[in-house]
Amino acid sequence: MAFIDLQGVTKRYNQVPVVNHLDLTIDQGEMFALLGPNGAGKSTTIKMLTTLATPDEGKITIGGADVVKQPHLVKRFIGVVLQQISLDLDRTVWENMEFHGRMHHMPPKERKEAIDRCLEYVQLQDRRHERTRNLSGGMKRRLQIARALMHNPKVLFLDEPTVGLDPQTRRRIWEIILDLKQQGMTILLTTHYMEEAETLCDRVGILDQGKLIEMGTPEELRKKHGLAVVIVQNEKDQRLDYKFFPTMADANTYLESLPHKQGVMVRESNLEDIFVELTGRQLD
Ligand code: ADP
Repeated sequence: MAFIDLQGVTKRYNQVPVVNHLDLTIDQGEMFALLGPNGAGKSTTIKMLTTLATPDEGKITIGGADVVKQPHLVKRFIGVVLQQISLDLDRTVWENMEFHGRMHHMPPKERKEAIDRCLEYVQLQDRRHERTRNLSGGMKRRLQIARALMHNPKVLFLDEPTVGLDPQTRRRIWEIILDLKQQGMTILLTTHYMEEAETLCDRVGILDQGKLIEMGTPEELRKKHGLAVVIVQNEKDQRLDYKFFPTMADANTYLESLPHKQGVMVRESNLEDIFVELTGRQLD
């Protein structure tokens, strides 16, 4: 059953569409990754989903509630971890949670229970009186997740949840996200880390210039574009050329046919190969 539903959603800035007639449905309990190069429209999409921006065209519903017409209802069942909604670094862990609970009009007893429960869940109980400024990057992210969970949301929006974190910390955040999914949470995340999308998500969508140019499970995308890839280094400019093949056997046959095999590599394709192939290799 579709829990998040976007139909023909368009957002323009200065008359330029940055999200362009986007259709997307995400099922209850599904984990979906929105991928795309910088400027593709991912953050704008999340802002519209979380009532922080208004679409110029189209309709968005979450759990049947219209994001534009029923923002208060929508806010009740979404949890948001965005770069923009940051923590107050001068306040303690507890105070940041407390502030969020008040914003959601949670009565004192319920608020205290929720703070205890959520800090316990992300293992930050022993830091409750610590000033947020003194937390490590991973702890700050865990605090943001705890805060987003306080009012028992049904959907979680995570904008680049592990950006800037070291590999160990990233895996800890992944464990939390996977656990939430197991508990039935519907999750939409954006990421630049393809491995993150492959590890966590049921389906991915690739956004480019405000349009969804590809969507499916990582495996479906690999099957569609080729399960194997031959990478040849161009002698003139040292750039790497990627050639996709349906199977490893096909890729190896191609390799055999090459007169020069130096600087050529054959391997299984991954989501990152497909992402770069579809969205181009221009540098920022
Ligand atoms: P992404 O998250 O994929 O990097 P964004 O949604 O942040 O992309 O941005 C998409 C495009 O919209 C970019 O070209 C960006 O400059 C533009 N944009 C985003 N927010 C605004 C705004 N408030 N005013 C004007 N342009 C904006």
